[in-house]
Amino acid sequence: MIQIKNAKELEGMRRACAISAAALRYGGEHIEAGMTTLELDKLIYDYIVKHGAKPNFKGLYGFPGTACISINDTVIHGIPSRDVVIRPGDIISIDTGAKIDGFNGDNACTFACGKLDLEAQRLLDVTKESLYLGIAAAKAGSRVGDIGHAVQTYCEQHGFSVVREFVGHGVGKELHEDPEVPNYGTAGRGPRLVAGMTIAIEPMICQNDCKVKTLSDGWTVKTRDGGLAAHFEHTVAILAGRTEILTKGWDDPNIAL
Ligand code: MG
Repeated sequence: MIQIKNAKELEGMRRACAISAAALRYGGEHIEAGMTTLELDKLIYDYIVKHGAKPNFKGLYGFPGTACISINDTVIHGIPSRDVVIRPGDIISIDTGAKIDGFNGDNACTFACGKLDLEAQRLLDVTKESLYLGIAAAKAGSRVGDIGHAVQTYCEQHGFSVVREFVGHGVGKELHEDPEVPNYGTAGRGPRLVAGMTIAIEPMICQNDCKVKTLSDGWTVKTRDGGLAAHFEHTVAILAGRTEILTKGWDDPNIAL
């Protein structure tokens, strides 16, 4: 069932999302060549706890980390590990969130370690832009399919492909709520967006083919063909006449951490 948030609940969402965004940006700013993904995860954990919130990924469905940290051909759900070392030229997707006062934030960004080759940079640029196009399509009165249509059209125009097996979702008192928000679809189809809905829009975009595989650890999702993948995510609130990006802090240097 889709949960509609009242004004007070939206305030709770703003707070949880602000901490989530700050934690994501903090993680991104601390990426360094030679660091392990477990070290990066610990920094994000400490940041969230220090700000009075709870890392809401940790323990959810048994996930061991504070953040999913996914490098290069890992699309999502990379488990922080002392065996995974970040190298120059890597693309590093961090997906993390915080819970406070009963509400959840969820956001993701693919960061670069040093200078990327042109194709990797283009994948990041296109995926990020597709997130904002998806958000622009997410208006009260529109439908969920409008979001996926906007993301898919833009990414495919640029020669990239959209993961089908994993999708965005409602966010609120639970990290994952209804509705599902696919990054592909048909405009004008799917549940109608109404004021008070809070949803995570999160394009997962592949350089080549969109087929993915889950490794035997039960979590790590990689592209089948070994191509790169990128992941950007905001939690947004559908309001009457406008849509508010609740996690905007990770992408706005003017917002103080
Ligand atoms: Mg999410």
